Amino acid sequence: MSHNCLFCKIVAGDIPSKKIYEDELVYAFHDINPQRPVHILVIPKHHLTSLQHASAADEPALGRMLAVAHKLAVEAGSPGGFRVIINNGEIGCQEVPHLHAHVVGGDQPVGPMLKRQA
Ligand code: 5GP
Ligand code: ZN
Repeated sequence: MSHNCLFCKIVAGDIPSKKIYEDELVYAFHDINPQRPVHILVIPKHHLTSLQHASAADEPALGRMLAVAHKLAVEAGSPGGFRVIINNGEIGCQEVPHLHAHVVGGDQPVGPMLKRQA
């Protein structure tokens, strides 16, 4: 647990979230500001700031984040596919400094890119 980390606090239950999945490595919940009908965040339970900070020790959690994405997308209402986005660091426009994979989808194609309005 990294103190003052928003997503570590969500994993710990200190800040509420709409949890949809949890195992020993990862935690998944609905994004508070969904950009598409399905917008899930999948995060490692241990604190990892971004892929800029990842090491071999993080590989099990990184693999699990991708391995559970399809199941979570289908169950959340995106059976026909989905997109995974991981923003990293300042250039990657990462806002929350605890690694998270956005899993976005719905009943319509998500479009060529997902752009945040400036
Ligand atoms: P980033 O820009 O870092 O890739 O994405 C951060 C994401 O976290 C955004 O999509 C934002 O809506 C989401 N987010 C920020 N704070 C919270 C929160 O307290 N709860 C939830 N569920 N999502 C959050
Ligand atoms: Zn954290």
